Amino acid sequence: MHKVIIVGANFAGINAARVLLEGGCNVVIYERQAEIGYMGASFPLWVMGKVKEREQLFHSNIVELADAGAKVSTSCEVLSIDFSAKNITVRDKFGREFKDDYDYLILATGSRSRQFPVAGMDLDGIHYAKFFSDANACVQRLAAPEVKRVAVIGGGYIGCELAEACKKHGKDVLLLETDKQLLPTHFDPEFAGIMQDQLELLGVKIHFSRVRSFVGKKYVEQIVHEKGVEDVQLVLFCVGFYPVAEIGDELQRTIEGSYIVDEHQETNIKGVFAIGDCCANFHQIIGKHRASFFASNAMRTAHIAARRILGRDVKNPGSQNSSVVLIDKLYLGSTGITMRKAEELKIEVGYSDFTGKQFPAFMAVDNPDVKLRLLYRLKERVLVGVQIASQYDISSALNYYSLAIQERLSIEELSLMDLFFMPHFNHAYNYHMLAALGAS
Ligand SMILES: Cc1cc2nc3c(=O)[nH]c(=O)nc-3n(C[C@H](O)[C@H](O)[C@H](O)COP(=O)(O)OP(=O)(O)OC[C@H]3O[C@@H](n4cnc5c(N)ncnc54)[C@H](O)[C@@H]3O)c2cc1C
Repeated sequence: MHKVIIVGANFAGINAARVLLEGGCNVVIYERQAEIGYMGASFPLWVMGKVKEREQLFHSNIVELADAGAKVSTSCEVLSIDFSAKNITVRDKFGREFKDDYDYLILATGSRSRQFPVAGMDLDGIHYAKFFSDANACVQRLAAPEVKRVAVIGGGYIGCELAEACKKHGKDVLLLETDKQLLPTHFDPEFAGIMQDQLELLGVKIHFSRVRSFVGKKYVEQIVHEKGVEDVQLVLFCVGFYPVAEIGDELQRTIEGSYIVDEHQETNIKGVFAIGDCCANFHQIIGKHRASFFASNAMRTAHIAARRILGRDVKNPGSQNSSVVLIDKLYLGSTGITMRKAEELKIEVGYSDFTGKQFPAFMAVDNPDVKLRLLYRLKERVLVGVQIASQYDISSALNYYSLAIQERLSIEELSLMDLFFMPHFNHAYNYHMLAALGAS
């Protein structure tokens, strides 16, 4: 029976543990935090009051993993790895250091919030949005009656979700983004504008402006940014993540600092794997390994590494960074690359936009518009990006496009896809076909 040590116990580490335990391995897990399995995605829902119980914020716990046969040690930091002796050095919460041997080692050390070094960052009431301790501190501060105005820094998915959540919690909300649009990594301005309209409709005040500093005595009282000074009593930083890949000097890393892995998630040292946010992921369109911070990737890469250890040959097909965000009634989804990214990568792309109705006109139901953009390589005509916006739940359509990009379908193949029609669900003149035909 192999002994596998897993460093880090969230989506990646826990999922790998589950597969390995089922496969009969002896699994030992070390986690730096006091708790395991915190689901970051639940944080905005907790702020909005949709998640009621603390336990619901976690997708696993120590008892569940211990019952399945794992040895789990929390508040334990793995300090270093000796690859030739095949052991790690661990420090526990009392400061005691000890070694532990492995047959296989899985690094699932995840990511941290990007730091934002501006004056006043050490004031109370300024939080990041990564760990349970961050979310817990923020939710407690939100409950204080003197907290009337919240500044959310960063207009990516998480920033938009938290801006909505704080607004629905009853606070005045200011959202600051340094780019000239919201969601700059995932959407072109036409789609980002829909998100901006939605948030403004909810009452969120948006500034495209960079933070300069914070002012206050004990707690933060003011935010100073390029376009003004405003009173705030709570600040939430959602300015992205960077990989935590600090241990193992001999391991190769990308320039972004992620562990480099092969298609089986194995690093340059045999028997040592890296999974989830801490490793670079093959990007289908960019054609290179890139840092990517998605629970969905963490789950997939965990399966790949664990199955490899169990002797099964599963390869990582790569990723196109698919995601959907829901703000109030607006669903906004993207996969692949945007026009801006295509320009940056010097990929010649064309695009086809189409806005259609979800249902035929005779259906006595709300019939929202669906706005769709398909991006494709001009020469090869394969799909490289999709953006979609609607008040209808388009999330499964986004998965369909994610698969289409993974399988390198051409725009012509998409226009001929055998998509069902049934008035209860869609329109015979469906927007998928019409958008693809628009590019043919
Ligand atoms: C607010 C928020 C919302 C999000 N929403 C979504 C979403 O809707 N969809 C989605 O796909 N993704 C979402 N994400 C991203 C998702 O949470 C991450 O991609 C996912 O958690 C990555 O899992 P992981 O196990 O690789 O890493 P992490 O979750 O970062 O876990 C790594 C663990 O390793 C531990 N660790 C690190 N170094 C050591 C060490 N030396 N010794 C011991 N332990 C160590 C850390 O303490 C940590 O617990 C969200 C993230 C946040 C913060």
